[in-house]
Amino acid sequence: NGIELKQIRENLWEIPQINGMRVPGRIYISREMLESTLSEDEALKQVMNVAHLPGIEKYSLAMPDIHWGYGFPIGGVAATNLDEGVISPGGVGYDINCGVRLATTSLTLEEIQPKLEPLITKLFQNIPTGVGASGAIKKLSKSDLKKILEKGSVWAVENNLGTQSDIQFTEESGTLKNADFSVVSERALERGADQAGTLGSGNHFLEVDVVEEIYEPKVAEVFGLFKGQVVIQIHTGSRGLGYQVCDDYLKVLLKASEKYGFKLPDKQLACAPIKSQEGQAYLAAMQAAANFAWNNRQVIMHLAKKSFLETFDMKESDLGFHLVYDVCHNIAKIEKHQIGNVIKEVCVHRKGATRAFPPGSEMIPEKYKSVGQPVLIPGDMGRYSYVAVGTEKAMEETFGSSCHGAGRNLSRHKAMKEAKGRDLVSELKKKGVIIQAKGYKTIAEEMPAAYKDVADVVDVMHKEGITRKVAKLKPVGVIKG
Ligand code: 5GP
Ligand code: MN
Ligand code: MN
Repeated sequence: NGIELKQIRENLWEIPQINGMRVPGRIYISREMLESTLSEDEALKQVMNVAHLPGIEKYSLAMPDIHWGYGFPIGGVAATNLDEGVISPGGVGYDINCGVRLATTSLTLEEIQPKLEPLITKLFQNIPTGVGASGAIKKLSKSDLKKILEKGSVWAVENNLGTQSDIQFTEESGTLKNADFSVVSERALERGADQAGTLGSGNHFLEVDVVEEIYEPKVAEVFGLFKGQVVIQIHTGSRGLGYQVCDDYLKVLLKASEKYGFKLPDKQLACAPIKSQEGQAYLAAMQAAANFAWNNRQVIMHLAKKSFLETFDMKESDLGFHLVYDVCHNIAKIEKHQIGNVIKEVCVHRKGATRAFPPGSEMIPEKYKSVGQPVLIPGDMGRYSYVAVGTEKAMEETFGSSCHGAGRNLSRHKAMKEAKGRDLVSELKKKGVIIQAKGYKTIAEEMPAAYKDVADVVDVMHKEGITRKVAKLKPVGVIKG
């Protein structure tokens, strides 16, 4: 669509730096996906728009699950320097610290098969789903909320909703330390008060999967994964609280963009210098929302463990329930990266992109130092998802980032049309997947065909050496909003 792309490698394309772009764009994608999914999409234009941001370093990047998003494309990565660089809520998204966690069990599919339906029912009963889902645990007092926003999932562990090891295997140990409760609005707090431990709607899910294939046995072993094993994936974020923080600060940063005289190609890229009062306030509020999200996934995981123990009438010591890792895929983080010959602190915006740090990184759990960070890449509820591992190449090329999912193939509206007259619940059941959801609308909008084939997406990252495939997961049960 009129954008001139230069092919750099088999799956890497560059958008030359033109007009007001401060850096070139770079997109990791196969020729087929580029032609089929990006031709009618504004996402490439968004990669170019992001390249206009003050202080952006190296490239405006996009991963193969790229599609249109608010301001930044989903699948977008941009690092801005801390001197003149900006921070932009559009580079984080409305669902601040939306992310995925993966936990193991010691069970195999054969062992759970006879009780699979009751298990899914139990999960659906114990974990509130849907847009306004609430009441998973007690309604939080203001002082509890303050603790959650400042401590993240450490709060859950302190309240017997998790273990010390859960903290260890969460990105940032489940707490961004500079979070500030006082810059989060009353409205946001209100919205969060009864939403800790709730899944939400749409793309969010809790899935029971079986490890179907192992690509790197050594790495899989370090992650605690084996073929035939039952594992669970949890995908959700900061619920109404994070949404409200984003909404509140978009207004603040829109004003700031004018105040600082930024010429932006799109209002949705509203931003402020990271150093400015507005930028700092957003950063601190965003970190508080991120902490809320980690706590949310922690509480949900605890409720899931409880559901397993109840369904199979097991002792905890026999269940082998361990968190493999929890990653965020909508966030801006201050990190050190090599740029040219210097190591610089930059603000890495990952909007629908997952951190993918290499072996030896200071930022990953001791247990994974020899192999690298687990990268969790959900696909869809009918086909499969992947576990990959971070590499040095990711550090060199993508600020230590990878894709975060399959990415949408059909809009929600188009998916609804496709689903008309079909019985998706039975279709999934035939494939061996039991689904329970609040509404049929969600099932239709989220049907497998609504997403790209995540195998193609993961292959791009794998072939380009950004992340390597470790294991493939097949869904057997899922709950949704
Ligand atoms: P998000 O919607 O947060 O941008 O991306 C998360 C990714 O999760 C999507 O790109 C999609 O590939 C994946 N996804 C959405 N729904 C499901 C589901 O029910 N099960 C699995 N395994 N993946 C899903
Ligand atoms: Mn997400
Ligand atoms: Mn989300």
